[in-house]
Amino acid sequence: MKRELAAAARDLAAYIKTLDENLAEFPRGEAAPQPKIAAAVHAAENPLPAPSSSAGPEAPDMASLSETVKNCRKCPLGYARLNAVFGVGSDTARVVFVGEGPGFQEDHQGEPFVGRSGQLLDKILETVLGLKRSDVYIANIVKCHPMKNPETPEAHGNDRPPTPEEISACRPYLDEQLRAIKPACIVTLGSVATKVLLGMDKGISVMRGQWYDYPVELFGPGHPIKVLPTYHPAALLRNPNLKRDTWEDMKMLKSFLENGKIA
Ligand code: SF4
Repeated sequence: MKRELAAAARDLAAYIKTLDENLAEFPRGEAAPQPKIAAAVHAAENPLPAPSSSAGPEAPDMASLSETVKNCRKCPLGYARLNAVFGVGSDTARVVFVGEGPGFQEDHQGEPFVGRSGQLLDKILETVLGLKRSDVYIANIVKCHPMKNPETPEAHGNDRPPTPEEISACRPYLDEQLRAIKPACIVTLGSVATKVLLGMDKGISVMRGQWYDYPVELFGPGHPIKVLPTYHPAALLRNPNLKRDTWEDMKMLKSFLENGKIA
């Protein structure tokens, strides 16, 4: 027991050192808090969209789904984006990480979590889970960059939260991705993704560190995808004190992936 505790303490110290080195590279204040998002996805105002079971029992084809998203104009974001940001990683991943939407860097590169938050996410994956981004799948709830001024996609500081209408329009794509990948679990990154996917109006500090069932039955009754909420990496950039909680969440994820069940 003593040996296990000592090993856990060493793991935690190594993780914190790695993240400290990473955090030191980044100025504080990336992705300023977005209080409007919380209001926009309040469960009462934005009920969980209906399950996308209308797509039928066959798993969707990711390549054609990606092509559909690339050409999508279902909401106004499709007319301002530089690139649709479909998702990245393994199409057979056991875990899917979900954020709220692309920002400036993602819009420019067409890939989710490629800015400073993304680099930190990569570091967490590697340090705690021993995984690369190509081992997991990473996606967002909305696939196009929500901008304050859609006329200036080249401007920095132009990010805004997605509206409930944009979330409702785009959300079925995420469920289609999940139906194709068939992951064992989802990790929601931050308050917005957690509220939207779980339909619960509680803050991330309350929701994190516990497993939930994804309320959309993509694979029939009795086969829920497990959901683990944790902090958005941008929150760790703003407040490094959150990294210990994130480490604990990632250890829970590691245990689930290794044992196939919740400890
Ligand atoms: S955000 Fe989603 S629904 Fe809106 S245009 Fe982009 S892909 Fe289509």
